[in-house]
Amino acid sequence: MSNQNTNSRALFERAQAVIPGGVNSPVRAFKSVGCDPIFIEKGLGSKIYDADGNSYLDMICSWGPLILGHSHPALLENIEEVFSRGTSFGVPTHQEVTMAELIVSAYHAVDMVRMVNSGTEATMSAIRVARGYTNRNKILKFEGCYHGHSDALLVKSGSGTLTYGVPTSPGVPEATVRDTLTGRYNDIEMARQIFEENKDEIACVIVEPVAGNMGVIPGTKAFLDALRALCDEYGSLLIFDEVITGFRLDFGGAEAVYDVHPDLVCFGKIIGGGLPVGAYGGKKEFMSIVSPLGPVYQAGTLSGNPLAMHMGIQTLNYLKAHPEVYMHMEDKAIHLENELSAFIESNNLPLSFVRFKGMTCLFFKAGAFSSYDDVKDCDTEKYGEFFRIMLSEGILLPPAQFEGWFLSEAHTMQDIDYLISKTKTVLLSMYT
Ligand code: PLP
Repeated sequence: MSNQNTNSRALFERAQAVIPGGVNSPVRAFKSVGCDPIFIEKGLGSKIYDADGNSYLDMICSWGPLILGHSHPALLENIEEVFSRGTSFGVPTHQEVTMAELIVSAYHAVDMVRMVNSGTEATMSAIRVARGYTNRNKILKFEGCYHGHSDALLVKSGSGTLTYGVPTSPGVPEATVRDTLTGRYNDIEMARQIFEENKDEIACVIVEPVAGNMGVIPGTKAFLDALRALCDEYGSLLIFDEVITGFRLDFGGAEAVYDVHPDLVCFGKIIGGGLPVGAYGGKKEFMSIVSPLGPVYQAGTLSGNPLAMHMGIQTLNYLKAHPEVYMHMEDKAIHLENELSAFIESNNLPLSFVRFKGMTCLFFKAGAFSSYDDVKDCDTEKYGEFFRIMLSEGILLPPAQFEGWFLSEAHTMQDIDYLISKTKTVLLSMYT
């Protein structure tokens, strides 16, 4: 199959004249996979359709929000009615209360939650709460974990910046990141050492319990337990960034899967059902210092927007009523893993397939993966070649090696079999 992409190409030309790089988020430029982006017209189920009428099996799913796939009937229900009642009021709505109740019901660690507009805002605000609560400045993050693009967190971060080999961004003042300490993911000893060297100074540790921005690398239970213990010992707060894992690994997120209880949790993606949303929450003790209850200021004109809340509520209610969604996603991920791992082994290919629950990634490097050090020399050139051929075969993979393949409820076993069969054919053509 060879796709026509005249319309996408024309749109990209226009876009480059008026949008930096032609895109509103760097990874969308497809730069690290060496081709031009496709422009999407619509999505339905597991498929998306571009401006030239080509269809693709979508393994991005908007980078995670679309756990039910595109245009799921549960999400579209009543949307016109909600829309017709008005799109934003700047004063409270009942949807915000329902959304908060849903999140609180799912997470032991969360008594109270504040809605924001993105994952970036969620992590930035949670850190502010931790700093305000502890009256300390330093924060500890882990290399390869991405927590959005706020200044203090744009330090050796993963995702787009990892792909483009820019460890820090110009425009982030040195003074802003001076208090950001960076550890190695899954390295308990290093975390302990950092705490010992910065006694009584660390406000919080922020971590992706399953890293989804350096491919997919699960945190070990021992690592997350150790972070919990270190935070308790040194009086710091533990923040789980569950922007990807929240409501994806399980209805109770990584907190439930690992049985490790953070002090604050950050959300995004799934809780907006495809509309712009984020949230941060935690025990009342921490959240009651947030304005107007307490002195830590944080606000937002469109925070808790009724349309976004509606889409999020529909998604969470569906997941709550259909817990089998998680089993289905894991079954599909296990099938992918079994087939591709066996194929890689029998053909002795320099690749690895990693899975945790329903999260998956194909690394272009053989070996085991526990931290950023293990992934940084993946063969990104080969990944680019693989991506381009798969795209021409009607499969849209993440346009960067260091991202997971996102599954949804809408992906059928036939979709997965198609993905497996194309992956095998393309890899064989590349390596033999
Ligand atoms: N945290 C994690 C774990 C993420 O993966 C992302 C985005 O991908 C963010 C935070 C930032 O979220 P947003 O892009 O909504 O600002």
